[in-house]
Amino acid sequence: MTLHVPTLVLILVVGFGLLTVQLGMAERGALNRGDLQRLRWGALAFSLGFGCFALRAWLPPAVVLLAGNWLLIGGLGSVAAAVWRHLFNRGLPVWHHWLAAMAVLVTPWVLDASTPVRAATMSSVMGGLLLPSAVVALRRGWRAERSFRVVALMLALACAMLWLRVLLALWWRQTAPAQGEPWLSWTSIVFMLAFMAVLAAGFGFVLATFERMASQMRELASVDGLTGACNHNTTVSLLAHAMERARREGQPVAFVMLDLDHFKRVNDRHGHAVGDQVLKAVAACTRARLRGSDVLGRLGGEEFALVLPATGATGARHLAEQVRLAVEALALTGDAGRPLQVTLSAGVAEAAPDDTPETLMHLADKALYQAKQQGRNRVVVADEWMRHSTLQSVLG
Ligand code: GH3
Ligand code: MG
Ligand code: MG
Repeated sequence: MTLHVPTLVLILVVGFGLLTVQLGMAERGALNRGDLQRLRWGALAFSLGFGCFALRAWLPPAVVLLAGNWLLIGGLGSVAAAVWRHLFNRGLPVWHHWLAAMAVLVTPWVLDASTPVRAATMSSVMGGLLLPSAVVALRRGWRAERSFRVVALMLALACAMLWLRVLLALWWRQTAPAQGEPWLSWTSIVFMLAFMAVLAAGFGFVLATFERMASQMRELASVDGLTGACNHNTTVSLLAHAMERARREGQPVAFVMLDLDHFKRVNDRHGHAVGDQVLKAVAACTRARLRGSDVLGRLGGEEFALVLPATGATGARHLAEQVRLAVEALALTGDAGRPLQVTLSAGVAEAAPDDTPETLMHLADKALYQAKQQGRNRVVVADEWMRHSTLQSVLG
C-alpha cells in the first residue's frame, strides 16, 4: 500500500477545516474559552496552510512555500498558546515569541535551497517550535485531565515525526541526491502524518476542555462558593456514607453542628460584606483543625457542620471546644476598621448503631439549641434524654 500525498493533504485541509468549524460553533455556545479560541485560530491556519499546498499546481511555487509554511508556523504558535492557556492560564513566554519569529524569518531564506535542505530546515524549525508544547503537555498536562494525555502523546508523536523527517531529508541529501521521487514522497508522508497527530491532539484538546468543565460543574454542585465547605446535600450524603462505614467497621462516628452567635448583629452593625468575610474566616479557621477524613459542611446561612469518622462523643467535644476557642480568638476587622469578635455554639452527637442521618442531625440540633439556651459560646453533647425525645419526635 502506498500513501498518496495529495490525498493526505486534502484530508488535512478538510480535517482542520472541520475542527475550525466545530470550535467556532462551540464558541457561540457555552464553550467560550480562551484556550479553545487559540486552538481555533491554529486549526484555521493549518487548514489554509495545507490548502496552499493543495493548490500547488496552480500557484507560483514561491507563494505556495512561503504562505504555506508561514501559516503552518502560525498554527503551531497558536497550538502552543492554547496549551499554555489551558495548563497555566497565561500567555506564551517571551522566548516562545522569539522562537516563532525566528521560524518566520528562516522560511524565505531556504526558499531557493534544494528540496532536501528545505525539507530538513522547515521540519527542524517546526519540530523545534512544537517541542516546548509537547514537553509542557507531557510534564504538566499528564496530571491535568485524563483526556489531555492524548493531547500530550499526540504532540510528542508529531514532534518526533518532524524530527524523523529532518533525518530522512538529510539522509536523502547524503546518499541519493539523484533519486528525487520516492524520497520526496517519503518525507512528505512523514510530514503529513506529523500533522495528522496534531489534528488528533486538537480533538483531544476539545475533549479535555469538556472534562475540565464537567469537573468544575461537579465541584460547583457540591461545594459552597463562599466558604469552600461542602454544601447541605453533599454534607448529608457524606454523613450517611460515614455512618454506613462506621457500622460496618464497628467504629464510632460523630456529627457536630456549629452556629455563630448573634450573627444577625454582625450583619446589622458591619454590613453583609463583612458578614461574608467572617463566614469565610470561621470556615478556614475550623478547617485548619480537622483531620483529612473529617468533613466541613455549610448547612446554610451561618450554620456549619462537622462529620467526624472514627470519633466518639468525647473526641468530638474536644475538637468542637478547640474550634470554639479558635473562633473566639480570631482577630477580625469590621466596618471602618473596628475590631470584631464572634463566638459560636456547638451541638455534638455520636451515632448509635441504628441511627439514621436524620436522627443524628436532629440530635446535634437539639444539643445546639441547648447550648444557645445556656448562654451561647459553648459546646453541648447530646445526652440520653435528648436522644429519647428526638426518637419520639422523629417517629411521631
Ligand atoms: P443565634 O445566636 O440565635 O444563632 O442568633 P443569630 O443572629 O446568629 O441567628 P439568626 O438565625 O436569627 O440569624 C442568622 C443571620 O445570619 C441572619 C442573616 O443576617 C445572617 N446570614 C445568613 N446567611 C448569611 C450569609 O450568607 N452571609 C451573611 N453575611 N449573613 C448571613
Ligand atoms: Mg446564629
Ligand atoms: Mg442559625
